[in-house]
Amino acid sequence: MRKNIVAGNWKMNTDLAETQDLISDLKKIAKTSDAEVIIAPPYTNLYSAFEAVKGLDISIAAQNMHQSASGAFTGEISADMLKSIGVKTVILGHSERRAYFGEKEDLLAEKVNTALDNDMTVIYCFGEELKDRNFSEHFEVVNKQISNALFHLDSAAWKDIVLAYEPVWAIGTGETASPDQAQEMHAFIRKTIADEYSQEIADEVTILYGGSVKPNNAQEIFSKPDVDGGLIGGASLKAEDFMAIVNAF
Ligand code: PEP
Repeated sequence: MRKNIVAGNWKMNTDLAETQDLISDLKKIAKTSDAEVIIAPPYTNLYSAFEAVKGLDISIAAQNMHQSASGAFTGEISADMLKSIGVKTVILGHSERRAYFGEKEDLLAEKVNTALDNDMTVIYCFGEELKDRNFSEHFEVVNKQISNALFHLDSAAWKDIVLAYEPVWAIGTGETASPDQAQEMHAFIRKTIADEYSQEIADEVTILYGGSVKPNNAQEIFSKPDVDGGLIGGASLKAEDFMAIVNAF
């Protein structure tokens, strides 16, 4: 079901004590919007974060996951392991996973399948690089990123998919897509899904924007009709900023 979501991707930041501190700071700030709140601490802090948010209107996501059920994959984490500590949402396809760990869409399609087979929700990230936009290839690139990793799914599977459009040139750079650029791409994404599946599925899917969302620009970006919230990096590490973004709806 389409909903407003603000998700914080903490990346490789926060140790155990900092995770507890950040969550207790989040608790102190009232949530005044109807947005669903998700935080994605690093693996080592997922369990303690899960325990710390009990009773709060916050859920926990993992930042990545391996596609296999178990086995000789040193350093990796499976869906079962995440579920065993209560984590039912996973971010897949983040541009940093694509750029630094070589994750391509065939692998991402496998990870998506594993997550869905395990009744998890996937936040699937994608977005063009600056060169793609400069060559006016951003729609084509985004179309491929979505279709290669997701268009093998049947219609029913889409209820567990959240999309996060994150233009790479706007991540951690302080440069944001303008609200109109975000809207234009989100409308394109919805049309791409409507053409492949149905208007109903396209209308129901939640599409987040990510890329230097801050308290001072969130409201304008979220006011766009096809933008259903944000995936927040840097600003999710400060409780006040993150909650200001949550409350920007
Ligand atoms: C991200 O990494 O998903 C992200 C959007 O980062 P930032 O908000 O820092 O640009």
